[in-house]
Amino acid sequence: MPELPEVEVTRRSFAERIAGADIECIQLGKPLRWPLGCDPATLVGRRVLAVQRRGKYLLVQLDAGWLLLHLGMSGSLQFAPSLPALGVHDHFEMRTSRGSLRLHDPRRFGAVVHVPGLDDARARKLLDGLGVEPLEAGFDPQAFHRSLQKRRASIKQVLLAGDIVVGVGNIYASEALFLAGIRPTTRADRISRPRVERLHRAIVDVLQRALALGGSTLRDFSSAEGQSGYFQLDARVYDRAGEPCRVCATPIRAIRQGQRSTFYCPLCQRP
Ligand SMILES: [Zn+2]
Repeated sequence: MPELPEVEVTRRSFAERIAGADIECIQLGKPLRWPLGCDPATLVGRRVLAVQRRGKYLLVQLDAGWLLLHLGMSGSLQFAPSLPALGVHDHFEMRTSRGSLRLHDPRRFGAVVHVPGLDDARARKLLDGLGVEPLEAGFDPQAFHRSLQKRRASIKQVLLAGDIVVGVGNIYASEALFLAGIRPTTRADRISRPRVERLHRAIVDVLQRALALGGSTLRDFSSAEGQSGYFQLDARVYDRAGEPCRVCATPIRAIRQGQRSTFYCPLCQRP
């Protein structure tokens, strides 16, 4: 599943090139998670002003209205001067004066939604519940600690919920909790302030490392047909069940938390 760093690298791969482009034609494939919400013909002639990101949504700002784009479980975007005919898994394509933007999404949990403005009810339904951006100044350790004090669920599940801090998905949550030395099952409100500060730093570190890695593999990422665009982090715990911890050699444990796999070192990560 594309996570925040993949989405941000995707954004950077085409945002500058598409800014100023005029929409010439929109083609839709099979239905995606949500309908486009307008007649595609009404978008012809609109100009793309900018591409922003909020959580895992790409916000394509037009001279009138916005397109909210989500990659879902398996989506990837391509932007190129010209592309071959739509394949069976290509479900959205926007041809512009500067190239075609195409969503390839075999599982079709992704979506492209048109809204007249970001205060529109449909936009708010998608964007309002999102927590602060982890790579922006609004994510600060004190406020993070105050928010966690109000939650009795496990820290891993609180991170995945995304309403305190957005975009810390399964891999990055597992890795950040390892770096901070916190057991994923620990109740969020029981984590001391110094440990929350360590977790805050670990989240930023892990995401920035993934972004840097993504930047270096950008060419493959944006051109690869059907690739989900995972950045293969040098994972410390994620997907390493039974393998020795890279710090203490204790076998990494795997458990299930809310239907998701969690990996941790029982020695390095304290409750
Ligand atoms: Zn260990």
